[in-house]
Amino acid sequence: MMRIPFIAGNWKMHKTVEEAIALAQELRAELEDVEGCDVAVCPPFTALVSVRRALEGSAIGLGAQNVHWEEQGAFTGAISPPMLKDLCDYVIIGHSERRTIFGETDEWVNKKLHAALAHGLKPILCVGENLEQNQAGETEEFVGGQVRAALEGITAGQMRVITLAYEPIWAIGTGVPATGEGANEIIGGVVRHTLAVLYSDDVAQTVRIQYGGSVKPHNIAEFMSQPEIDGALVGGASLKADSFAAIVKNGLQAKRG
Ligand code: PEP
Repeated sequence: MMRIPFIAGNWKMHKTVEEAIALAQELRAELEDVEGCDVAVCPPFTALVSVRRALEGSAIGLGAQNVHWEEQGAFTGAISPPMLKDLCDYVIIGHSERRTIFGETDEWVNKKLHAALAHGLKPILCVGENLEQNQAGETEEFVGGQVRAALEGITAGQMRVITLAYEPIWAIGTGVPATGEGANEIIGGVVRHTLAVLYSDDVAQTVRIQYGGSVKPHNIAEFMSQPEIDGALVGGASLKADSFAAIVKNGLQAKRG
């Protein structure tokens, strides 16, 4: 089963509009020759319009970092799917920072997935265990539970536009990534197995699953050379054009073998 690699940058709460435009322009120049890999950047909401303009006509996709499930209403500070759907293609849902800092529950994540899909956005659904769970040997049970809860009521057809990102919380922003083999085991094990049980082997083998957590230019090959890992969700190293471009290029080279 051929899955097209997908590498996305999550800029988190970084970059003013001016800085975001500059980064987008640099990325466009660095990545213009790259083929055979989907690439996207996820700037803050405030920079979506400008980055969209800066990337127009390029192959680099655009995503948001969050979305609310309601279409409109008294939800101060929230952004709805209809507000995003003409601005970007992707939306990150269930990032661990949203879950741990902002208290997002599995139920919210599920509502957001349904709402994003209903408006034609392509979700990047994040799951991953924390350090205590990892050390207690609870990773598989926890991650499997997160996948099941997030996908409640999602159809096999809808799975075709969802990307999953396995992001162990202990690896995010710490400089301590998982090993390629360890991430491959979770992705190819509990994550694809859960998809197979919920849907079918075909769905489990078709869905793209990224690894995220301290991915850098020097370690991307370790992840992309693994058969079950289809790409990366990159935080810190996506904030500079040269490092993100190197991740894309090194990653693609490793995937091609
Ligand atoms: C992330 O926030 O999704 C992430 C993986 O961050 P970092 O690459 O900085 O660990």
